[in-house]
Amino acid sequence: MSTQLTTMKTRATDAVTAAAGVVANLASDLDRIISVSKDDRSPVTVADFAAQAVVGLMLRGCGVEAMVGEEDAAQLRENDVLRAEVVSAVQRVIPDASVDDVLTAIDSGNSAGGPTGAFWTLDPIDGTKGFLRGGQFALALGFIEEGEVQLGVLGLPHWGLEADPRGCSVQPPGSICVAQRGCGAQGWPLAGGDPVDLRVRDWSPGDVLRTCESVESGHTSHDLSDQIKEAFHGNEAVRLDSQAKYAVVAAGAADAYLRLPTRPGYVERIWDHAAGALIATEAGAVVSDIHGKALDFSRGRGLEENKGVICAVPEAHSLILQRIKDLDLG
Ligand code: AMP
Ligand code: MG
Repeated sequence: MSTQLTTMKTRATDAVTAAAGVVANLASDLDRIISVSKDDRSPVTVADFAAQAVVGLMLRGCGVEAMVGEEDAAQLRENDVLRAEVVSAVQRVIPDASVDDVLTAIDSGNSAGGPTGAFWTLDPIDGTKGFLRGGQFALALGFIEEGEVQLGVLGLPHWGLEADPRGCSVQPPGSICVAQRGCGAQGWPLAGGDPVDLRVRDWSPGDVLRTCESVESGHTSHDLSDQIKEAFHGNEAVRLDSQAKYAVVAAGAADAYLRLPTRPGYVERIWDHAAGALIATEAGAVVSDIHGKALDFSRGRGLEENKGVICAVPEAHSLILQRIKDLDLG
């Protein structure tokens, strides 16, 4: 299986790199980009659809085509202008892709997931709000087998591996981070270059705790994170969109990523965590929900059994969980 996984990793990395090129090109002219609203009123753009199509098309024939993807092609089938823009963006990297190929590839993301078999999970643009603000976003592709994430790839067109997230500056051409279970995590520039091993910072309890969290206060409670951080010897926080937060912890540029539920009943989606959680874990972080339970990717499209996410260097992770317990935040 590991030879097959290594081949899958190459295919996944190539697919995300190609899709990131398409997205970065669209990101350079945000005024022109078509954005529409989904049923949950969140935005989706030409870039989200194009990235899902490019990844779906580039994974064709790799052995596993089932995918749990964030987007589907329903809106494209009804909106001629949107569809034409998406097809033309895809054709920049796959010139012979037909309209039908593009729609079928996007709809290949309709799998239900679950505890058995193998499937991909894709968020073609995680942090669409960040993308539209000219901030951080990620193309996130995970590979799950028998309920466990085996591969994770994050394309981060606006985040350089050496970046200091406090400045949060946008750094094209950005980077790609890749992990295979049991084999560590590596990153390199999206434009090409030598891989570097990703490793969390060596942190001990007397150190300042550097955290990251969502920009959107609807996605994580900023108030609860303030309460947690009060227990530490000083803290610095940075807010950025997307699974870039997992990569920031993996690369040692923050010590913890806090995702604290804002409302009861919200179920995190597997495509928002699979790739990033594996990358951070393989770089030496501990990832769990706010009660210390491992993220359970075997429950379908959602992390039904989990509440929030805490990703942190090991010592900080146990102190954060203790603090959550003490404050009775669950
Ligand atoms: P972030 O960029 O980390 O804020 O996360 C973006 C993701 O948050 C989106 O892909 C959504 O799937 C997800 N999301 C939407 N609503 C919520 C919510 N109420 N709580 C947590 N995450 C959410
Ligand atoms: Mg997302």
